Amino acid sequence: MAIKFYNTLHRKKEVFKSIKNKKVGLYTCGPTVYDLPHIGNFRAYIFSDLVKRYLLWKGYDVKHIMNITDIDDKTIKKSIEQNKKLKDITEFYITEFYKDCNSLNILKADKYTKATSYIEEMIKMINNLMKKGYAYKVDGGSIYFDIHKFKDYGKLSNFKLKDLKTNAKGRLNNKDEYGKDDVRDFALWKSYDKEDGEIYFESPFGRGRPGWHIECSAMSTYELGKNFDIHTGGVDNIFPHHENEIAQSKCGTGGDFVKYWMHNEHLLVDGKKMSKSLGNFYTLRDLNEKDIDPIAFRYFIYGSHYRNKINFTLNALSGAENALKKLREFYQNLPVVLNTKKINKSYADKFTKVMDDDLNTSKALAVVWNLVKDKKINDSSKKATLFYFDKVLGFDLDKKVDEIIPEEIKKIAEERELARKNKDWSKSDNLREEIASLGYEIKDTQDGYKINKK
Ligand SMILES: [Zn+2]
Repeated sequence: MAIKFYNTLHRKKEVFKSIKNKKVGLYTCGPTVYDLPHIGNFRAYIFSDLVKRYLLWKGYDVKHIMNITDIDDKTIKKSIEQNKKLKDITEFYITEFYKDCNSLNILKADKYTKATSYIEEMIKMINNLMKKGYAYKVDGGSIYFDIHKFKDYGKLSNFKLKDLKTNAKGRLNNKDEYGKDDVRDFALWKSYDKEDGEIYFESPFGRGRPGWHIECSAMSTYELGKNFDIHTGGVDNIFPHHENEIAQSKCGTGGDFVKYWMHNEHLLVDGKKMSKSLGNFYTLRDLNEKDIDPIAFRYFIYGSHYRNKINFTLNALSGAENALKKLREFYQNLPVVLNTKKINKSYADKFTKVMDDDLNTSKALAVVWNLVKDKKINDSSKKATLFYFDKVLGFDLDKKVDEIIPEEIKKIAEERELARKNKDWSKSDNLREEIASLGYEIKDTQDGYKINKK
């Protein structure tokens, strides 16, 4: 059976055919590391994880690249506000991001590309665009992309440049982010401004730094080639970010760039767009503090199709957590040893059919529960089939319900980590003992510490 994905570029579902036989290049726009991502951002990372898991499950060899934006307007602003080095800010949030992804059971990308490690590639691409006449330098030294030179500009976000002639004249200020009506030439290279403090790079165009959009064009094509299979992101990335990525990459490399553009819809909270002022803003940390298993958030996300808006409420999350708990208990209490050969073909076919149809996770969950309830299927088949589905769903069905670590223990563990970083060994030992006295043990590994119930 063929997989069908909805391709934003053509506004329809298309049969997925990888460029190279059974090999897939997948690029995901990752976090801008100036703060903790909110749960809407994590919907996008769970979505790209689902795309990846499903392709792996269907036997594809997936190379997944996720970028880390560690230089842009927001990261620089934060480092200046806090009077800290840019790297100190970004490294802290990168570590937090990895921890959060791990707690959501998101598979690691093959590579996380930091923008500051690819400045040379960005300069090369800008140079190319200048040589080919797609970009121009303005007084003050910044370099802009001339959107009128690229006839396909607007194809992804579905607007026609000729209808926007009056708006599309001129260029934007140096901002990375802008509104939907601001269809104008955008910055590829921003000349040094004293607001950037100590942060700049030397280039043939003078001192400055790259624009946000060129970062993804340079990193994706460097790692995956000038033509690759899938690019994912949230719908808010379609314009201007992805539209600009297409313009720069196609004009810069001469290649076709991305074959399938896949975007997940917004997550609303209590029916509204999340905002700090409305008090409906959640990070994953906020959920952890309520002792909610992060994977319950994953289960909640699967309740809606990725192309539909989803309304998050704490009630709905708690419903998802109960369902996940029930599923895990059912799986763990099956009185049989796992034999992965015992997969039930009929259920596997049903699951494949709905997932092949543009990753219909809510129908896939229905298949899972029908299997659980089906009296005609023996326990051994149930165990093997659920295990098989879990490779796609990522529910970590083997996770013991009591393995969920209470917030109090996590706080002490974080305090101990800080003591270790400050080389305060006696404090770190005392905190380890405190954790032990509460019935948990802490182990230090290469990827950080791990807490287990004793
Ligand atoms: Zn991007």
